[in-house]
Amino acid sequence: MSCNYADGLSPYEHKGVLGVPEKFESEEKLNEKCAILTDWIKNSKHVVVHTGAGISTSAGIPDFRGPNGVWTLEKQGKKPNINVSFNEAVPTKTHMALKHLIEKNHIHYIISQNIDGLHLKTGISRSNIAELHGNMFIEQCNTCESQFVRTSPTATVGKKCLEEDCKRAAVRGRVCRGKLHDTILDWEDSLPDNDLEMSDYHSSVADLNICLGTTLQIVPSGNLPLRGKKYGGKVVIVNLQPTKHDKKADLIINYYVDQVICNVMKRLSLEIPEYTLDIDPTRNQLPGAVLEWNISKSNIKQIQKEFERVSKEHKKRKSEENFIKSKKKAVKKFDIKVETLKNEGLIKNETENVELVMGFVDLTEEEDDIFTE
Ligand SMILES: [Zn+2]
Repeated sequence: MSCNYADGLSPYEHKGVLGVPEKFESEEKLNEKCAILTDWIKNSKHVVVHTGAGISTSAGIPDFRGPNGVWTLEKQGKKPNINVSFNEAVPTKTHMALKHLIEKNHIHYIISQNIDGLHLKTGISRSNIAELHGNMFIEQCNTCESQFVRTSPTATVGKKCLEEDCKRAAVRGRVCRGKLHDTILDWEDSLPDNDLEMSDYHSSVADLNICLGTTLQIVPSGNLPLRGKKYGGKVVIVNLQPTKHDKKADLIINYYVDQVICNVMKRLSLEIPEYTLDIDPTRNQLPGAVLEWNISKSNIKQIQKEFERVSKEHKKRKSEENFIKSKKKAVKKFDIKVETLKNEGLIKNETENVELVMGFVDLTEEEDDIFTE
């Protein structure tokens, strides 16, 4: 199938803001910002990267809302000029670097809106990636929901039947009578449960969410990077066009994603590995082999537990902060009253007349508790 898989989707009106002009940092600013990003990556405990079509344009796959994007051109009655098929496309420097950064424990999870299979082709583990909109190289059984890696892209999009039997028996022994379907979402389809659940937890516990090559216009995918903000996390956006959440970002880098990532890798003293066929599960399968691509329940439980810990810690911190705030307020009220009573000649020294002063101070129940503690 050609990379213009969009032709297979249903007609849809609300495609978001299209064709906004691209912006580019000066070289000096780019270096400055890449240094900050590197520093944040080094000093964060849980880093999650959100990827969009912008990271695959250097592989020859068009984006959607850029000046030459699929939807931008569609609006002008044109089609993108594509010279690569999903079969031929190989991971970019960014895809390869991200896989390496996971191995080096600098980043911990990738949440992708891309369906091109380029993350899969880097040999990434299923425990490190959620694919929210499907993958051309993954098929799924409609009965047992098992997913398998394909050696060629699916011929359909929109979760249609591929007229092939479920392959579960080859890996699990028990025969399943289900049929395999493609995993590419159409506009109105809901997101895959396990991928979404993993994404939700990972984005929330992340103290650094980095968005690469996405205008963050599609929901819920585009809102996930903001999840960590509630717990004190930072958001970084690397994109050529402005995005929906620029105002909420802690750092914005308007530049080519590949160049930003190369800059960061250099600062981390890491080499970007080359793509080779032997690391690619869509290419290195033996004839007749069946490779599963399922999110394990234990992975979900593990990150859910981490989320509960982070959320509990956040609540505790908030309540401590509130206590300090109330205490300051109560002390201020007390001091003001003391001054007034002194001026009126009713008391000389508040330490000898605490009870008396307290009788005059109008404290809330909570503030009263603070004083009596
Ligand atoms: Zn099945």
